[in-house]
Amino acid sequence: MNKDRKLIIAGNWKMNKTVAESLDLVKGLKRELSNIKEVDIVVCPPFTALCEVSKEIIETDIRLGAQNMSEKGVGAFTGEIAAEMLKEFLVRYVILGHSERRQYQAEPDELISRRAKAAHAASIKPIVCVGESLEQRESGVTEQIVGQQLRGSLAGLTADQVVETIVAYEPVWAIGTGKTATSGQAQDVHAFIRQTLGEMHDSGVAKRVRIQYGGSVKPGNARELMSQSDVDGALVGGASLEVRSFSEIIKNSI
Ligand code: PEP
Repeated sequence: MNKDRKLIIAGNWKMNKTVAESLDLVKGLKRELSNIKEVDIVVCPPFTALCEVSKEIIETDIRLGAQNMSEKGVGAFTGEIAAEMLKEFLVRYVILGHSERRQYQAEPDELISRRAKAAHAASIKPIVCVGESLEQRESGVTEQIVGQQLRGSLAGLTADQVVETIVAYEPVWAIGTGKTATSGQAQDVHAFIRQTLGEMHDSGVAKRVRIQYGGSVKPGNARELMSQSDVDGALVGGASLEVRSFSEIIKNSI
């Protein structure tokens, strides 16, 4: 598939996998994906496995992501993880504002934007998640919600930082439910996100930002989703926990 933007497919392992299980998974991915150059491949293990996974992928094209980080520098913030600590394990990406964190940790857009700025300051690329709930979609406010989240979560970022940010459109009703947005529904919201980025900055910036789709991406629907003109990759939850399904999603997307 010929797009100006390189596809980026990231696996969000969430609160799954011991260190041993993480190593099994990543060794399998190394075997399956060693020849893939067309896609940026990212794995986001739990914090506890970052160190060992980092060592395992050091000489590969697989990149490491974290699932969250603090907006603060190192210091007296019990239980938090600073960007500087992630850098020690060569973490290149960080998922911010995932809907599970927006829901269970009540993370607001303003906090997500501070984290995004802290990530950029450490040369870690944020994957900033936005997406509407089922109720919001059914009430016809998808664009209003996604627009608000996008503007709030990227507030104060420079144009250069926005270009280096990945936006993940993840309709909440499609996460972990087996219900995928149709490729048309995904494309419509991705186009809206790109248009909004153009209003926030300019169309040159908007054209360069990679926008992932997330929500029950599987080997069987990856190709159709990735073929949409504004879909530049995927953020994958459940199907990233097994070598076979994650590898097939990547291979089917090319
Ligand atoms: C996610 O949580 O980011 C996600 C997309 O999950 P799943 O693929 O399991 O729907």
